[in-house]
Amino acid sequence: MEYHDRKRILVTGGAGFLGSHLCDRLVAQKNDILCLDNFFTGTKGNISHLLDKSNFELIRHDLVQPLFLEVDEIYNLACPASPVHYQHNPVKTVKTSVMGAVHMLGLAKRVNAKILQASTSEVYGDPAVHPQKENYWGNVNTIGPRSCYDEGKRCAETLFFDYYRQNNVNIRIVRIFNTYGPRMHPNDGRVVSNFFVQALNNEDITVFGDGSQTRSFCYVDDLIEGILRMMNGQDDFPGPVNLGNPGEFTILELAEKIIDLTGSKSKIVFKPLPEDDPMQRQPDINLAEEKLGWKPVINLEQGLKKTVKYFESLVSGKKPVGG
Ligand code: NAD
Ligand code: UDP
Repeated sequence: MEYHDRKRILVTGGAGFLGSHLCDRLVAQKNDILCLDNFFTGTKGNISHLLDKSNFELIRHDLVQPLFLEVDEIYNLACPASPVHYQHNPVKTVKTSVMGAVHMLGLAKRVNAKILQASTSEVYGDPAVHPQKENYWGNVNTIGPRSCYDEGKRCAETLFFDYYRQNNVNIRIVRIFNTYGPRMHPNDGRVVSNFFVQALNNEDITVFGDGSQTRSFCYVDDLIEGILRMMNGQDDFPGPVNLGNPGEFTILELAEKIIDLTGSKSKIVFKPLPEDDPMQRQPDINLAEEKLGWKPVINLEQGLKKTVKYFESLVSGKKPVGG
């Protein structure tokens, strides 16, 4: 590819779990990648294999502060994603989502860049409609412990559509459902990472509530493919579009699968259900199938098998596999 044909692409939150996998794909496509991160939950380890590539650059920056760059596309992923991390400093979480969106949309407007927002199934809150379609407006508590994340992401979606209508910014919004895979932070408190670490250490598996709540888990490679298709899709389809794997499992089923897969001696123990924990979650992905020709191809068993090696290497203190 000629130098002037390369796209300059900014990935905010690029040293995080999803961001680093996205950078891998974009670097391989020979684009010029600017990876921006403040390393709150992301790590240099996630992107260390990219640091010596001539088309990869790393910027340490906090998105709560403005930033001026020349870019053609922006993937806005910066925001802590696990309840433990986003509740650590809830005010900062709101600022990252809302001020981060304002700064990135302002940049997109100035330099005429296309911009994609990593939104979330959390905009549906504890959903009264099942499975969730994009036209469902959600059931979100404005003042609970999850609100900093949920409402921050909802406000970001609003800002994206206001910049789209008011300033013709070329936007894309994806609503990501629970995603897992190598490079998940081992201490992020999310269910897949917790259960793998507990199972591999033969410690008790902590199921919150009675384990009957459901989630739908998407393997990271499928998700990244969906994000890329959305960014490169039709300009007249800004979204929002659900991206996730519709396979729905109870948390108890997930615990049993991980115990089986790891051959663990762990016992399941039950702990109190956190406040406002959604009881069910399953994406309706008909819109993604229709508009993007996308659906996941890796089921939960296959994805967990791909992920176990990464957690085994972490627990044994070796260099992470797939990391
Ligand atoms: P992650 O925590 O691994 O990645 C987030 C990245 O953003 C980290 O590298 C972190 O250091 C960085 N960051 C946080 N605050 C920042 C700030 N103020 N300035 C600059 N960088 C900052 O989480 P992830 O799972 O990779 O999630 C990436 C995005 O996808 C997030 O926006 C999240 O809300 C969204 N999402 C993820 C999931 C999922 O299941 N993984 C589901 C729904 C939505
Ligand atoms: N969960 C659990 N044990 C854990 C961590 C989480 O039972 O050690 C439950 C949690 O209560 C929720 C589900 O697993 O019902 C998914 O939690 P996670 O934090 O991964 O994602 P989110 O709630 O944001 O979907």
